[in-house]
Amino acid sequence: MKKEFIFLGPPASGKGTQTARLAEYLGFVHIDTGSLLRAEIDKKSQDGILAKSFIDKGLLVPVDLVANIIKNRLRQDDCKNGYILDGFPRSIEQAQKLEIINKEIDNDTDTKFLAIYFDIDHELLLDRIIYRRSCSSCGEIFNLKFNPPKSENICSKCGGKLIQRKDDNRETAEARFETYFKETAPLTDYYKNKNVLVTLDANGDIETVWKRLLNIIEED
Ligand code: AMP
Repeated sequence: MKKEFIFLGPPASGKGTQTARLAEYLGFVHIDTGSLLRAEIDKKSQDGILAKSFIDKGLLVPVDLVANIIKNRLRQDDCKNGYILDGFPRSIEQAQKLEIINKEIDNDTDTKFLAIYFDIDHELLLDRIIYRRSCSSCGEIFNLKFNPPKSENICSKCGGKLIQRKDDNRETAEARFETYFKETAPLTDYYKNKNVLVTLDANGDIETVWKRLLNIIEED
C-alpha cells in the first residue's frame, strides 16, 4: 500500500529534523517545499524570483506556484511507494489542491494518507528560529543557544561554514508565525474532520520526539 504522510506544525517545531529521520527509516522521499523554493531562488529561476518576494516577507508564495512544484515532484518514480511532505499543504486551498494532485497521480492505487500534527509550546519557537544556523555544506542544523557548534560559525560535523537563512531574522520570523496561525493552523481541524489527523507531542528533545513518532507510525 502506498503511504502518504504530511507533517503539520508551526515553524521550528522540529518537523524538518523528524521528517528527514522518518524518510530514511522508511526509505521514502522527504519533500520539503521550503528547500525546493530556496533551490529555485538559488537558480534565479522565474519561480525563484517570484517566490523570494513572498518568502522575505514571511508570506506564503502563490498557491499555483507551489502546487506545480509539488505535482512535478510527486509524479517522480521515487514517490511510487510513498512520500513524506513537510511544509505542504500550508492552507486549506493547498490541501484541496493536494487531493486533486493525489487523485490524478494515484488513480486506483491503494493508498493510506496520514496528517501528523506537531503539537508544541510556542514560547521557545522564536528563539529556535533566530539562533538557528545550518551548515552550507552538509545541511546539519545548529542553534547558537540550545545546540551550539563546537567552534563559532563552523560545522561540528564536517567543518563547513555555518550560515543563517535569510528569513530567520526576528521580523520575518514573527510574520511567519502570523501566517502560520492565520493560514496553516486551520488545517488541523480540516484533517481532524476527515479522520486522518494524528497529534504528536513535539515538546522535548529530538530522541524523545522521534520515539513518539515511531510509536505513531508503527501503530498505524
Ligand atoms: P520553511 O522552510 O518551511 O520554513 O518555508 C520557508 C518559506 O517558504 C515560508 O515562510 C513560505 O514563504 C515559503 N513556503 C514554503 N512552503 C510553502 C507552501 N506550501 N506554500 C507557500 N509558501 C511556502
